[in-house]
Amino acid sequence: SNAVRGVEALVRWRHPQRGLVSPGQFIPVAEESGLIVPLGEWVLREAFRQMNEWTNLGLAPLRMSINISAVQFRRGGLPRFLAEQLAAYDIDPRYVELELTESVLMQGVDKVLQTLHEIKDLGVTLAIDDFGTGYSSLSYLRRFPIDRLKIDQSFVRDIERTPANESIARAIVALSNSLSLEVIAEGIEQSAERAVLEHMRCTEGQGYLFAKPLSAEDFLGWIIAHRKNRVTNDLFDEEIPGLLQDWAQG
Ligand code: MN
Repeated sequence: SNAVRGVEALVRWRHPQRGLVSPGQFIPVAEESGLIVPLGEWVLREAFRQMNEWTNLGLAPLRMSINISAVQFRRGGLPRFLAEQLAAYDIDPRYVELELTESVLMQGVDKVLQTLHEIKDLGVTLAIDDFGTGYSSLSYLRRFPIDRLKIDQSFVRDIERTPANESIARAIVALSNSLSLEVIAEGIEQSAERAVLEHMRCTEGQGYLFAKPLSAEDFLGWIIAHRKNRVTNDLFDEEIPGLLQDWAQG
């Protein structure tokens, strides 16, 4: 349908001398030094602040996906921090999704299970990021309160001419359907990839084909243009609200 269902918060470092530093460079250092904890908290607060701002501008609610690092998750205190920030920014928790990798889930199962339930009790949803690339123990899909699988982009790449990728993606979609989980394909770059995934009824996707990573400000311009190019309007509660019009013009 081309409807926009959500956004994923991605962190970048605008360095005064070195320009835009990629997360591949600074996240491992942040994890090693422990700085990932304040950084992760900043990302979460910033994402909530942005959701709040968009709601005030009149944008219909979008799912906000937030990546949680293993260090941040295992350290404890995440459910409590989440509860505080949800309240502080007046966020509807149904629109918040935390993304965890398989490796996060595989260590200390009982503690993990408890934390996941505490997060779910807040009304927040959970996704497994880069699904199929970690330990891939399928038993956790039964045990853990997961809402969504994210098909790793390595299975999406050239899927239209890579039978093994097509088989793996199809299996993940089938698994999601039979376990009543949502599924989304990551890293779609070509319309041929999208077509194959659509055909196997993978109904959501993300990637460069739809939009490159954007600053929050550029995203507003993008979504206004996107809405204008659509036949049906479900991006805004009504017509484009006045505040957003003003924003777009000035
Ligand atoms: Mn992610």
